[in-house]
Amino acid sequence: MVCRNLLIALVLLVSAWPVQAQLRIFACEPEWAALVRELVPNARITTATSYLQDPHYIEARPSLIAAVRAADLAVCTGASLEAGWLPVLLQRASNPAIQAGRPGLFFAADHARLHASHEHVDRSMGDVHPEGNPHVHLAPDEVPEIVQALAQRLAGIAPEAAPGVHGRYLRWRAGWNRLRTEWRARAQALEGASVVVQHTGFSYLLEWLGVRVIADLEPKPGLPPSASHLSELLAVPELAGANAILIASHQNPRPAYWLAEQTGLAVITVPGTVTDNPETASLEGLISAIISRIELTVAGAAHGSL
Ligand SMILES: [Zn+2]
Repeated sequence: MVCRNLLIALVLLVSAWPVQAQLRIFACEPEWAALVRELVPNARITTATSYLQDPHYIEARPSLIAAVRAADLAVCTGASLEAGWLPVLLQRASNPAIQAGRPGLFFAADHARLHASHEHVDRSMGDVHPEGNPHVHLAPDEVPEIVQALAQRLAGIAPEAAPGVHGRYLRWRAGWNRLRTEWRARAQALEGASVVVQHTGFSYLLEWLGVRVIADLEPKPGLPPSASHLSELLAVPELAGANAILIASHQNPRPAYWLAEQTGLAVITVPGTVTDNPETASLEGLISAIISRIELTVAGAAHGSL
């Protein structure tokens, strides 16, 4: 009888236990969606932008407003990257949990050391972010700090998921550290390489790899390449020794191909963030793929096959 009562008590206890709710996440960019998925594989994630879009400029669509309204946590880059659209989404969604200063709004840039910060910014400088370069998701040394803070935030919001999140974070970090050592070794072969870019989207990774940026197709950050700026670039002395023009999939490739035609440089087009393609579906895969593309170009140049 005691045993039976105990069983009934256990059944009651188990059925009274709240079913672990599925976390609803709003991710501004695909890289944060991918990292949330690493930590909480069963989260329901809405991602506002894709690798085919420029994350600086998207529309505050009604479906995105609805997703912010329903979310437990929004994970965005910050440092003004989404200044043109996120404030509108937050205001229209009026989700009390997801507002500036609340735990429901996580900005990756708050947990990273940003490069190129400016004390003074005015319009003459182009689209410069005073906080620094926000494109920090390709910074091999900063991403682990961001993911650690993200894991803590997720655990705070869903305490019942905390042990799982912590375990997955530790596994993720070990994998990232292993790959970072591999990337560091591969960077040696890239020593002395230089590229032309379009915007500062790859700056953190290029700097980490020791690949020099000798020119930018944008006349000023965020301003589209102009004919006059492109012809000025032809006079940049280092152009002759450059290895490639590196652009992102969402960018108009015409300026890069124009410069390639004038100079004979190769154009490398890579996604600026994670994609649906298995090879680049994670940040680790994306960074490895970008390094491979640069390696191929540098090796090609060394053998004179370009
Ligand atoms: Zn930018």
